[in-house]
Amino acid sequence: MAGMPSPSQLLAPKRIYFEPAVLGFERGREILARFADAERVEVQSHTRIPQLYGDSASAEDWLRLKRDVLVLGVKKGLQMRPNGRSADFIAPSSSNGCAMACSYCYVPRRKGYANPISVFVNVGQVIAAIRKHAAATGPKAAPNQVDPRAWVYDLGENGDLSVDALVSDNVRDLVAAFRDLPHAKGSFATKFVNRDLLRYDPQGRTRVRFSLMPAEMAKLVDVRTSPMDERIRAINDFVEAGYEVHANFSPVVVHEGWQAEWRRLFAEIDDALTPAAKAQLKCEVIMLTHNEGLHDLNMSWHPKAETFLWRPDIQEEKRSENGMANVRYRHGWKRQWLDQLLGWMGETMPYCGVRYAF
Ligand code: SF4
Repeated sequence: MAGMPSPSQLLAPKRIYFEPAVLGFERGREILARFADAERVEVQSHTRIPQLYGDSASAEDWLRLKRDVLVLGVKKGLQMRPNGRSADFIAPSSSNGCAMACSYCYVPRRKGYANPISVFVNVGQVIAAIRKHAAATGPKAAPNQVDPRAWVYDLGENGDLSVDALVSDNVRDLVAAFRDLPHAKGSFATKFVNRDLLRYDPQGRTRVRFSLMPAEMAKLVDVRTSPMDERIRAINDFVEAGYEVHANFSPVVVHEGWQAEWRRLFAEIDDALTPAAKAQLKCEVIMLTHNEGLHDLNMSWHPKAETFLWRPDIQEEKRSENGMANVRYRHGWKRQWLDQLLGWMGETMPYCGVRYAF
């Protein structure tokens, strides 16, 4: 599982499922022209592709489908949703699904047996909706943990924008849009270092949250992502290119050797970062949650990671707001472990403010 796949190993669509309406958008036509050799299959809806999502044989093909299949659709709901953790608002997604394959990823929990990238070609409408919302919301009256001044919009709830940028200019357009929204900032978490983004000129109005965890665990659970040392080194370059860069320590996977691994990670970050990167750094920390359906699915393609992610001996069930049976670390222990982790980080990286931890 170690080592980062090249862009073409990550994504080389041989088949593109597309909604007919996609052809009415320039972005849709651009993407189809870019992958002109791919077979095209028209579908009525990007969410209903039974031969892809409904085929239990697909689970064993989990990785191959992420590389070989692309779905193009038109995003229908364009509402902002309040958040209050990673961002103030969740913006409508410009994609759903991902070419990487983290074992704990929550994105496929409702999708069935495959989770390739679906790209939405109406990014212009997404941007217009963000602009309208930002204009109606006006300036932020008081600082909060998300940001002291700007309203922050999460742009990548359902995928990884750094990989989406291999498919189209959607991400470039989103980054450009935030340059002239005076009270708003865009933000997304990522596990992939895409150096094309260094040329997007964000002018401080987009926050990239690099997801970081000990390399030993990442090699097992962060399948097809950029190696940890590359993500850490990229922080300096992204800061220099005009991004705000935060760390997303997530998910924190507790296991017998976790203390030494996390201490080593914090020391590596401290060694690698420039003073400029340290001065603007903040983090969010999220302990692992998992899900029985996802566990069952993962057992068909990557059972080894499940020995760390599925730990009934230290986890308990928690019904999520949308009724899903998730598991998380047992309540009292979770708080204790989180405090330990924050303590190790504070010793090594005292300059790194914690935006939130749970
Ligand atoms: S990078 Fe993010 S969206 Fe992609 S598989 Fe990993 S957790 Fe899921």
